[in-house]
Amino acid sequence: MATLQGKRALVTGGSRGIGAAIARRLAADGADVAITYERSVERAEAVVAEVVALGRRGMAIQADAADPVAVQAAVDTAAEAFGGLDILVNNAGIIRGGDIEAMTLDDIDAMLNVNVRAVAVASQQAARHMGEGGRIISIGSNLATRVPAPGTSIYSMSKSALIGWTKGLARDLGKRGITVNLVSPGSTATDMNPPDGPSADEQLGRMAIPRFGTADDVAELVAFVAGPQGRSINGADLTIDGGANA
Ligand code: NAP
Repeated sequence: MATLQGKRALVTGGSRGIGAAIARRLAADGADVAITYERSVERAEAVVAEVVALGRRGMAIQADAADPVAVQAAVDTAAEAFGGLDILVNNAGIIRGGDIEAMTLDDIDAMLNVNVRAVAVASQQAARHMGEGGRIISIGSNLATRVPAPGTSIYSMSKSALIGWTKGLARDLGKRGITVNLVSPGSTATDMNPPDGPSADEQLGRMAIPRFGTADDVAELVAFVAGPQGRSINGADLTIDGGANA
């Protein structure tokens, strides 16, 4: 069912992994979809080709999430191309893990700029283009609320910031009929977290259902929240982690 027919979406970091799956899924549900990427121009164009093959409008915008002016411009470019914006998915994110003593200022700035500041800047800019029924969905992490192993303190800090942001923005935009939510995955098989990576067994050991999630699992939940059936979900942090945080 094309529940998103006529909707116009922007997915940040849509060239690979979870963002690419979200872009495909929103297009399959009827939305026009723009994506941003940092470096993967060919993969971004391949995702856009899939969106267009579904009969939707699609576009890829190179925009480094660490650059707030580029983020604002990407939102404006998508909204101008599509004649407005109904759905923003703040998906672009990075992780730099390791011993806290070894983390550099660049590591800290990079994670805060991409995982937090870009979300605030893109959401603020998107709200300027959105009307009643708008949806702002950010991709958090189950590591925001429980941190079961060392090495992710800065990343966890960046993702936990999105919980307060989501609740606050839901209050800010509720009067305009725009919902704001966080979808917080656990271990999901992507380039960022390959299921045969060095910490995969440790991650599997924490899960109630010992299986890495797929990018499509996360995309399903995002599509539900983005659709008309999600209209009463607001200010929520929706964990999708196979019970790792249970
Ligand atoms: P991924 O496979 O590494 O893909 C990252 C995507 O974000 C790519 O499209 C990449 O673009 C884009 N991106 C990265 N840095 C960017 C920047 N500075 N500017 C613009 N785009 C940028 O990651 P993923 O696993 O799909 O993760 C997606 C989101 O889910 C992230 O927010 C991540 O923190 C979150 N998450 C992932 C997991 C997991 O287990 N995989 C678990 C919890 C939460 P390029 O292709 O151009 O580099």
